[in-house]
Amino acid sequence: MLLLHTCCAPCALPLLEYLLTFKKAEDIVLYFYNPNIFPRAEYDKRLEALKTIAKIYHLKLIVGTYEHQNWLEYLRNSLEKPLNSYQENQERCLKCFEFRLKQAIHWAAENHFEEWATTLSVNRFKDTNFINKYSQQLSQQFGIKYLPLNLDPYKTYQRERELVKAYNIYSQKYCGCEFSLAK
Ligand code: SF4
Repeated sequence: MLLLHTCCAPCALPLLEYLLTFKKAEDIVLYFYNPNIFPRAEYDKRLEALKTIAKIYHLKLIVGTYEHQNWLEYLRNSLEKPLNSYQENQERCLKCFEFRLKQAIHWAAENHFEEWATTLSVNRFKDTNFINKYSQQLSQQFGIKYLPLNLDPYKTYQRERELVKAYNIYSQKYCGCEFSLAK
């Protein structure tokens, strides 16, 4: 069984299309754990979009806790400067990835998954080198296989846009947190 940590429906669409070429729907579980998203109304919109995708592909969807304050605290305790002083893809974002990926692998381990992956790893706007390296480290620590999604980020993004349009899926205009919203 594969646990797919899923940041949002648009990113999930082309990856699911790919994964379903060699895996059965019943062997994939979506895990929505994104307490970085702000405000709550935006979180709910993104979750609703993912529920639609789960229905389309007949996939099980697990929804993690929306613990935005804990996410903020983790970042504040890990970083020296005020959170709004970082640009996207700098240290704040790396800590944000860490927070979500750690929880995803914990959940995978507690629920006896053999394999895990994250949609964050094929995002042309993110530091995918960091995401893949950090996920591999967690995999070694937890003894769960990491499935790298070695797809071309540009072609994947193109396909994402086509699928978003075809299924009429909500597509967010900013990364997620209040700091990316303010830009
Ligand atoms: S910009 Fe995106 S990745 Fe960076 S901290 Fe905010 S939500 Fe996380």
